Amino acid sequence: MNVVTRFAPSPTGKLHIGGARTAIINYLFAKKHSGKYLVRIEDTDKKRSSKEAIKAIHTGLNWLNVNSEFKIVYQSQNYNSHIKVANELLEKGFAYKCFLNSDELEKLRIKSRENGIPIKSPWRNKREQDEDKNRKFVIRLKMPSDGVTIIDDLVQGKITVKNEILDDMVILRSDKTPTYMLSSVVDDNDMGITHIIRGDDHFNNAFRQIQIIKYLNWNIPYYAHIPLIHGADGAKLSKRHGATSLFDYHNLGYTSEAMFSYLLQLGWSAKNEKDYSMDRAIKLFTLENVNKSPAKFDLKKLKNINAKKLNSMNVNEVLDLVINRFNLSLNSEEEKRFKCLLPALLKRVQVYTDLQDEFDWIFEKNFFCKDKNFQFQLQKNYLMLKEIGSLLKKCEWSIQNIKDCLNNYIVENSLTFKDIGPVLRMALTGKTNSPDLISIIYELGCTITVNRLNYKY
Ligand code: GLU
Repeated sequence: MNVVTRFAPSPTGKLHIGGARTAIINYLFAKKHSGKYLVRIEDTDKKRSSKEAIKAIHTGLNWLNVNSEFKIVYQSQNYNSHIKVANELLEKGFAYKCFLNSDELEKLRIKSRENGIPIKSPWRNKREQDEDKNRKFVIRLKMPSDGVTIIDDLVQGKITVKNEILDDMVILRSDKTPTYMLSSVVDDNDMGITHIIRGDDHFNNAFRQIQIIKYLNWNIPYYAHIPLIHGADGAKLSKRHGATSLFDYHNLGYTSEAMFSYLLQLGWSAKNEKDYSMDRAIKLFTLENVNKSPAKFDLKKLKNINAKKLNSMNVNEVLDLVINRFNLSLNSEEEKRFKCLLPALLKRVQVYTDLQDEFDWIFEKNFFCKDKNFQFQLQKNYLMLKEIGSLLKKCEWSIQNIKDCLNNYIVENSLTFKDIGPVLRMALTGKTNSPDLISIIYELGCTITVNRLNYKY
């Protein structure tokens, strides 16, 4: 079988991380089977769709490396084909015109809610009369009223639903625009989709949509409905759990590789591995390993994966990320300094945006310590810092010579490294925690180091 999957987002907001995970799974499944992965923008809701949202979807998919290599399909461009199918269903008697006005419809809704029965319009069994000719109508699908519908979902398993609970859903609105329930099925058929992989919030829809497919004798696709992502408290993931948009994580300093690996592992795992590159994921992916229960988004886990990823990356790659993210323009000396300090700095952060806290002492020529408590200690140790400064000034600049210089000072003054290390660090970085002091002195260079040690607080 030539597998064809699709990711079909509605462009009504930023790309949600749940959507991004659906895209990843569709992408991997297609690649694993040497098939096609398509992207369809479901932009039929003109009021809620926006150009910005479409752009955000592409940006997000590109960032994760799961955009389609094929032409993007825009659902609104296929209106005519959807309308044609609605009329075909009507002609074949599988759908009917419903002339209920809004009051009548509201009454029907209340009645069906009270009795726990699906909406079936009285027009299902009525014939259109001459006097109806100029009235507004919607087209509803005539659901089978007896028997059952079985879907053998590749994730949820075999589920049977009694047809009597299916409502006669609207497929064409009174303004002649098709509904999602129709458009999506027609597009899936036209695009030759073999596997519909999507969030399980659409599982109910599958039992209704499949009726259209059966009425028209189209190929029935395989379905795989994946559980939604929940927050740590078990509730459906929402803004109060933190960022829910994929690209927010880019802005927060996560790498695309870490995000890919983590989103994939949300609800899917193979071989107990903790990190998946794209190639490895394509190799190992199976729908059987998707969990049936909702996955819990765990920021701590994502941070760990991101920290590991950052530390395994080539320094130049991280440098590029940071430079782009913060729009830094560094001269060659600054770039070299930053690059040399990066491996040690990266051991201390989980997201690369945290490196911003280090920018001032790394790049500012006239840096001085801003912390009032530290300033007090620097004042107290002014003489010592000045002495060390003048020794360093005479030093021929190398890691070994800097080390020797500090050791001599300690020995001559009967001190230990603890007596000078923390104060030196405060003077040079404004912090009590930083990468190795000798490397910092070496990378800052003689002039900057001595200036900072001589600063009068
Ligand atoms: N456009 C729908 C959504 O964003 C997905 C429809 C589908 O996958 O069938 O939820």
